[in-house]
Order: sequence, then C-alpha cells, then structure tokens
Amino acid sequence: MVWDEDDRDLPAWDEDGGHRSEWDENGQAPMVWDKDDGHLPVWDEERGHSVAWEEEGEHLPAWEVDGERPVTWKDDGEPAAFWEEDREPAVLWEEDEEPPSVWDEDTELPSAEGSWAENSDGSTALQPEGRWEWCLMQLRNTVSVGEPMEKYLELEQIGQGAFGTVYRGLDRATAGEVAIKKMSLREQNRERAVNEILVLKDKKNSNIVNSLDSFLVDGDLWLVMEYMDGGTLQDVVRQTRMAEGEMAAVSRECLQGLDFLHSNWVIHRDLKSSNILLGMDGSVKLADFGLCAQLSHEQDLCSSMVGTAHWMAPEVVTSSPYGPKVDIWSFGIVTIEMVEGEPPYFKQTAAMARCLIRQNGTPQLQEPRRLSALLRDFLECSLELDEERRWSAQELLQHPFLSSAKSLSSLTPLITAAKQLREQKSR
Ligand code: ATP
Repeated sequence: MVWDEDDRDLPAWDEDGGHRSEWDENGQAPMVWDKDDGHLPVWDEERGHSVAWEEEGEHLPAWEVDGERPVTWKDDGEPAAFWEEDREPAVLWEEDEEPPSVWDEDTELPSAEGSWAENSDGSTALQPEGRWEWCLMQLRNTVSVGEPMEKYLELEQIGQGAFGTVYRGLDRATAGEVAIKKMSLREQNRERAVNEILVLKDKKNSNIVNSLDSFLVDGDLWLVMEYMDGGTLQDVVRQTRMAEGEMAAVSRECLQGLDFLHSNWVIHRDLKSSNILLGMDGSVKLADFGLCAQLSHEQDLCSSMVGTAHWMAPEVVTSSPYGPKVDIWSFGIVTIEMVEGEPPYFKQTAAMARCLIRQNGTPQLQEPRRLSALLRDFLECSLELDEERRWSAQELLQHPFLSSAKSLSSLTPLITAAKQLREQKSR
C-alpha cells in the first residue's frame, strides 16, 4: 500500500497489489491506475469499495484509512467535504460552510446526499452512514408479513445486477407472472434497496415497473414487481436497427414515465437503455429505482455524483447542484443509443467519459445527416447543455418528433429479433 506524503491517508495499490502507483507532478498525492491503464475506477477488493483518482490528479471520493468514511477532494487537492465524527449519522459538509444541522427530521426519505462510492461499471452507489434504524423501521412498516414462497412460486433466474438477483415467478393466487428481485441489505446495498421499495411505494404508473409486494427475508429484501417479458431496451438497441417511428414510440413512453416521476419530485438518476424494460406487447417501462432521489420543498436539488458515467449530465459530472433535468440528459443519451447502438464515448473508461462530457458538453452524432431534422431537433432539446434551457419531460412530450411515433405493437418484431439474436450468441 502507498500513502501520500502529507498524510491524507489515501490508500493506493502498489505493483504487488496488481496496480501501478505513481506520484502526480507535484508529488502531492499518489496517482492510481487501473489494470488496463484506464485510470479509474480502482477497487480495493478487501474493502469492497473504490479507491479512485481521476486522471488529472482530481480526486474522486476515496476512503479514509479506517475504510469507514469517504473523503472527497476538490481540484486543488483540498478536501471538499468532511465527516463530522461525533455525530450519528455522520454528515458531509463543504469546507467553507457551516456544518449542517442534523438532517431534516420531517424529510420522508433518506436524503439523497451523504456519501457514495463508485462501482466497477462506473455507476455510483450511495453509502449512507446512519439513518439505518430509521430506514429499517420504515421498511418493516412497508413490507408484507408472512412467507413469500406461500404467495409466489419462484421459477428461473432472469437477471443479475450489481445489487440484486432477479427471478421470474408466479403469483400462486392468480397464476400471473411476476419478477422477484432479491437484494442483500449489506451495508453497501442498503440505500439502493431501501430506495427501490420506499420511494415508489405508493406511486403507480403505466410507464414504470410497478412494485407489487415486498418482504424482509433473512436480512435480504425481496421486491416483487411486474414481470416484463421482452427484455431490456439495451438488447434492442444493440441487436437491431430501429426506425425513427419506433424510436419516437419508445421516447414517448419513457417521457411519460419521467413526467410521472418528476411530477412526484422523484429523479431517477440512472436512466439508461438497460434500465428500460419492454413487454412483448411493446410496452415500455422505466426500472431500477435504486439510485433515485426524492426531492422535497426543502431540498429541491441534489449534488451527489450519482449515476452511470456515460449517461451522466454535465451538471452531475461537474458536481454542481442539479434537479430532474439530469434525467432528460440521460434520456437524450438513450435516444443516441437508439440511433447509434451505444452511448457516446462508450469505448472509453468511466473516468474518461466523464472527462469528455465535461469538456465537450453536448455530444456530436456520428452521422447526423442520416437523421430527420425533427429527430435532430428533439435530441438538441434533450441534450441542451444549459439545464434551464433543456426541455422538461412535459415539454418534450409536445415535441413534433413524437407525432411520427408508430404503434407500440410495431416494437414486437424488434424485441423478438433481439431476443433471438441474444439467444443465438449465448449458445
Ligand atoms: P444494476 O447492476 O443495473 O444496478 P440491479 O442489481 O439493480 O442492476 P436490475 O437492473 O434491476 O438489477 O435487474 C437486473 C436484470 O434483471 C435486468 O437487466 C433485467 O434483465 C432483469 N429484470 C429486472 N427487473 C425485471 C422485471 N421487472 N421483469 C423482467 N426482468 C427484470
């Protein structure tokens, strides 16, 4: 392990640990590079969280020596935030600000602020330090009592995410299909799991994957959801070529889901094609609410760098305060996925992608002339750099591009083709 000179206690890996360590130009802090020289993120296997630095010596959250609490660093190498040691829960605050009072007791849900750590795929998981007892109490009041297996029959595994394993199941009473997501309540997972259950518990919409039931089972949280039998939009964008009318249909459905979330003061914060699920009938629903944030009158902005790098809005990568429009940017990137099969900078590492988003702002299309003027304009409105001028979900729903939307059933052949191709490849 390497420690920096002025005792900032940032661990780095040495050659023996499988990573190359260097000192930055000023000899101020160790630079850590990942195995492929992609610079970030670097995981500390033992601690189970990231030890990450960005290329230009600008430090992403790293962990103190006790591995307990994050320390974030500003460009100038000064700590940007501190943990208040003797307050439970620990609270983050800016150096030049007064320490905040204890969280707003009236806030219904855990604050989206707090600490966070970066996952290996570039997404960022919240790591709450405290409020756990409170969350657990809320959960106990929310989940169903009883044995889930008496109500549901568990069938095969259909998905594995970083935070949960998803199974297809049957509701024994109705014989209807359900999806059962089992999430561990280990410390790193807690806020995500709690978010999935609590934020949307009373909010239902036809363009979000609605939860049906939940259980606490031996320290795991089981979420029973609507089952989506058509896979993810990612499968479709990767395996097929969509016509503009199909893109417009998917866009309209996603925007309806976002409009619903935003009108309920919820920001999804991890919108990407793999979090958009499809039904064989062409239904389109937003899923995976583990990183979502509940805003309130008191707290109408967030500032944590949360999400998956390639889909992050510029105001997120620059750690500026942000609101629901970050989802609109990510939606614009999803639209690029529908056009090009992948998001901009996809071949770059997460750190480099964030760097390019910061540098370049609105991404360039590979072949803009292939697109209609209406689609180009729709993309410009979604990927407007200035958050104020970026259109809202409600405004985009009025955009003339959407009037070219085909029927949802026109998506079925694409979904079928994507499924077949994926199955062939996995054989
Ligand atoms: P991530 O690593 O993306 O955060 P996660 O652990 O939160 O993942 P999900 O993305 O929610 O897990 O689910 C993993 C996979 O399981 C999805 O990509 C999808 O293929 C499948 N899946 C999830 N929910 C459903 C559902 N309601 N119906 C059908 N399949 C689902």
